[in-house]
Amino acid sequence: MATTRATAVKRKADEALDKEAKKFKSTYSKALKIVVYQAFQRQTFAVHEDLLYHYAPNLKHFSYHSSVPAAADIKIEKHLPTTFRNYLEWLYSSDEDRSRCIRTLLQPTIDGAGEKETRDQLACVKLIRLWLLTNMLGDKACKNAVIDVLISRACAGELCLCASSMVFIFEETDETSELRRWAVDEYTASTTVAELDDGKDMMPEGFEGSALRRLIEKTRKGERVGKPRLEDACLYHDHGRYEARCS
Ligand SMILES: [Zn+2]
Repeated sequence: MATTRATAVKRKADEALDKEAKKFKSTYSKALKIVVYQAFQRQTFAVHEDLLYHYAPNLKHFSYHSSVPAAADIKIEKHLPTTFRNYLEWLYSSDEDRSRCIRTLLQPTIDGAGEKETRDQLACVKLIRLWLLTNMLGDKACKNAVIDVLISRACAGELCLCASSMVFIFEETDETSELRRWAVDEYTASTTVAELDDGKDMMPEGFEGSALRRLIEKTRKGERVGKPRLEDACLYHDHGRYEARCS
């Protein structure tokens, strides 16, 4: 009798597990082949369609692109395969692990294991690349998390935003970009006027104009002038038109 009951309980548990597994399978129904390349770096990834389209809605428009190679469903140009891999780590992390997952991008890599300044610059570039990729994909949550990490590391003195990174940001973004706004604020607040003047030849075209416009904008809106703090992070977030801002 006891054995029969135990068997029934086990069967019920198995059925429940099976149901869960089916739910999981149906949630992640199909894997898309995505080819990511920049210059000579090229890699193909398999990513679950439902998950990707949910978090990266802009990709839906990519799949019907006529020049997609037959071997792939989607192609992503001008982004590094390593950046896309960083994004997949975020995409497949649970909510609790996600911020940690971006923070690990700042861990020293083999090629950046030397000077602290070099490591801090590399970390900054990795985060900038991830922001640019997620901006293109339309993943606002990841973009905003990258901004939070940029700000918190910059405040801790563990991030180095150099002139070449500024040039890169100015090449890849426009005046409305949250990343550019953060970079201009961070750079101008962390640099003395004399340093700004000395380094102006290395700065991107339009930097001075942007810095001046930001100063006027901040004064007009009553924003604090100075180094961006984590409390101000929402100034550099993208919440779209309808999403609530962070409190
Ligand atoms: Zn926010």
